[in-house]
Amino acid sequence: DIHIEENVDFNGMYLSDHVLQGLKSSGFERPSPIQLAAIPLGRCGLDLVVQAKSGTGKTCVFAVIALEMVNVSAPTTQVLVIAPTREIAVQITQVINAIGSAMLQLRAFTFIGGIHLSEDIAKLNCCHIAVGTPGRLTQLVEQGLLKVDNIRLLVLDEADQLLTGQFAESVVHLASALPLNKQVIGLSATYTEDVAKVAEGLMRSPNHVRLGRDSPALLGVNQFVRLLPYHHQLHRRQQIKLTELQALLATVTFNQCLVFSSSQLRAESICNALRASGWPVSYLTGGQTQSDRLEALEALCSYKCRVLVSTDLSARGLDSEHVNLVVNLDMPRDQATYLHRVGRAGRFGSRGAAITLATEGDEWQAMRAIASLANVRICLLQEGWKSSIA
Ligand code: ADP
Ligand code: MG
Repeated sequence: DIHIEENVDFNGMYLSDHVLQGLKSSGFERPSPIQLAAIPLGRCGLDLVVQAKSGTGKTCVFAVIALEMVNVSAPTTQVLVIAPTREIAVQITQVINAIGSAMLQLRAFTFIGGIHLSEDIAKLNCCHIAVGTPGRLTQLVEQGLLKVDNIRLLVLDEADQLLTGQFAESVVHLASALPLNKQVIGLSATYTEDVAKVAEGLMRSPNHVRLGRDSPALLGVNQFVRLLPYHHQLHRRQQIKLTELQALLATVTFNQCLVFSSSQLRAESICNALRASGWPVSYLTGGQTQSDRLEALEALCSYKCRVLVSTDLSARGLDSEHVNLVVNLDMPRDQATYLHRVGRAGRFGSRGAAITLATEGDEWQAMRAIASLANVRICLLQEGWKSSIA
């Protein structure tokens, strides 16, 4: 999925020495296709609707554009980045600070719920780049704590999620509170045409940089379905899935695995069951305290846990390079959610596998619909499947 041009590197992209140094120390030597296509346009100040598959380096696209435009000698907030989950916001700030590590005066901070407001106020003393979730950012702007007058760039990461459903109203409201004269960049692996229009509505002169929009599925991730027998009791069906999960984890070779469940409580109980079987495992759900959530994220990224059980909270954006197996214990609700979940297993062109456990009947039908919509080939794992994955 990522074809890196041998003869192109970041040096040819007219970036400042500081940013080049930061890219190098982050281990980024050559731009990915979306970086090559979108960074120059973004640096010209164009509004962008960016689409590229999961794991192809969209964070670095807007991090570089933001770092190149920010004036670190002015103690004002000039860039606002909005993300749908707290964990994505935390990871974005880490990437910005890593690529900006040679810009010694740079201040980039995360503003998310679950953290005491007094901590935010201290950070806002001088914050060039503010990264956060819609709720907390709205609160800070409405209370006059986050000054928006100098914001010249608005970034919407996972733009399609931010512009539909629960977040849409507050995101549009936040955008309209910013100066008219600003650049807007929206990024995602998936857009419906309707949502792309909504994104354009926030922009003065929208430009599209969309790679592989007809085939959003990751080629590097082998995708399988395990069809399980139907039982009329929900409890029994869940038990069958847990048994299958245990068997999969014991059989498939993987570095790190993300298991998606449909509810917070179930994620926790699956986690407990796996722990009882001896797996180094954590869980991450919206029902936890913020410090427990950050601890789980840390356990994943530092490779302390092998298996992370989560909900769709982690379906998008989360980046841990060792994750090469995704198990959909419960079905994703739609095609986009499926693609984003599976995308956790193929970061930056690495290879992985995704296995969906589907019960005969409705789940199997839903899975077939997702596969055809997403235009992916999904193999059915038959009895004796063990050899077919590795
Ligand atoms: P996306 O937002 O498109 O899903 P991310 O921005 O999270 O993808 O990046 C996925 C992974 O690729 C990250 O681990 C990141 O460090 C790595 N990465 C991004 N750009 C480069 C690059 N130019 N060279 C090497 N690794 C990169
Ligand atoms: Mg991303």
